[in-house]
Amino acid sequence: MLNLKTKKSPEIAAKHFEGVKYYIYQVLDYYINAFDILIGNLSPTDAVNILYTSSKLDANSINTIGGKLCYTKKAETKITIGNIIGIYTNPTKNFNNLFLTHKSEFKQFFEELKSLVEDIIISEPKELLNIEQKLKTKYPFIQNTNGSYEEPVRRLLLLSVFNYNKFSDKTGFPKDKSKSKHWRRYDLADALNVNTCAYCNRIYTFSVFSEKGKGLISPSIDHFFDKAKNPLFALSFYNLIPSCTNCNSTLKGGKEFALSNYVHPYLSGFGDHAKFKYNPLDIDASIGESRNMEVYIEPDKNSPIKRQVENSIELFQINKVYTQHADQVQELIKKKIISNSRYLEILRNETYENLNLSLDDSYRLAFGNYFNEADFQKRPLAKLTKDLVKELKMI
Ligand SMILES: [Zn+2]
Repeated sequence: MLNLKTKKSPEIAAKHFEGVKYYIYQVLDYYINAFDILIGNLSPTDAVNILYTSSKLDANSINTIGGKLCYTKKAETKITIGNIIGIYTNPTKNFNNLFLTHKSEFKQFFEELKSLVEDIIISEPKELLNIEQKLKTKYPFIQNTNGSYEEPVRRLLLLSVFNYNKFSDKTGFPKDKSKSKHWRRYDLADALNVNTCAYCNRIYTFSVFSEKGKGLISPSIDHFFDKAKNPLFALSFYNLIPSCTNCNSTLKGGKEFALSNYVHPYLSGFGDHAKFKYNPLDIDASIGESRNMEVYIEPDKNSPIKRQVENSIELFQINKVYTQHADQVQELIKKKIISNSRYLEILRNETYENLNLSLDDSYRLAFGNYFNEADFQKRPLAKLTKDLVKELKMI
């Protein structure tokens, strides 16, 4: 697992906030106005003008967003320009009971949420959990007895306020009223500039665009805190982990992560907490003549996050998956044998003596990968390579 935190992370988080804020604020304004109508501060006939005509949201979004308030278990009523007055004239018939019972508190909740949007988007994982806890304590009606969000609130937060699906589609969020500039999953992934899966460091994860800027390929984004259960964090920068579909969908799936159970790539990678090793299964493998070996990663027994490291290794099947890369290890063993452990030294001080290569450059030429941990994200198997080069005493 990579450590994704760099000096640039806060800067990219701020850019992400600039990209998503326009849309989120419009949605929250819509809800604040809608509750004003339900409270009686505004009349139902004002609704068309306030919620539809002067709203900066597109008609499609208004229908979806409006509909979330009217969602019942039976059906989802769409608020359109044609039925908007009728719906607000008969609120008990059309609106979810939870919203009607707490209409004044909901208005307050959305106003507070509006003041917290920036914090929710750019805060680090522990702070995110604090923000959520404070909201749930102050507005207890948003959660059920299990501490989960009430279903109408969950849907409304997930599907319209922190609308990851819209962020993830081809156009993403408009960045301003002109709607000519957009912020999409593709753009965030591009800004992150993380080239391999944060969880496995095996699969490339960069974004590719057409000449006209259309997003063609972008990585899968994992929500460390599952977005279905934690809708408040569906667009939070430090909750969005660029990954491969194997790790995100196949291996993790709907598994719930907590900071106490799994390694969070923005808090710590495997780094010094675990090291790759190998176990040759025959003589040939021990001298680099066969790939018959187990490759595995061993947690440091004194690591303060040993439990999280062990759980992450198991969930992402690191040992099984990396054993499939035994040919990489075989190649390193061969380099050690043919050079009497001096592979890097020979390359640097004899073959390319006149080039005065730096350690980084000569390491890259010798082993086809990056030396510094900060660069491990640039190429698959970077940590495996470094750990094994060290294990084989070639540096
Ligand atoms: Zn992966």
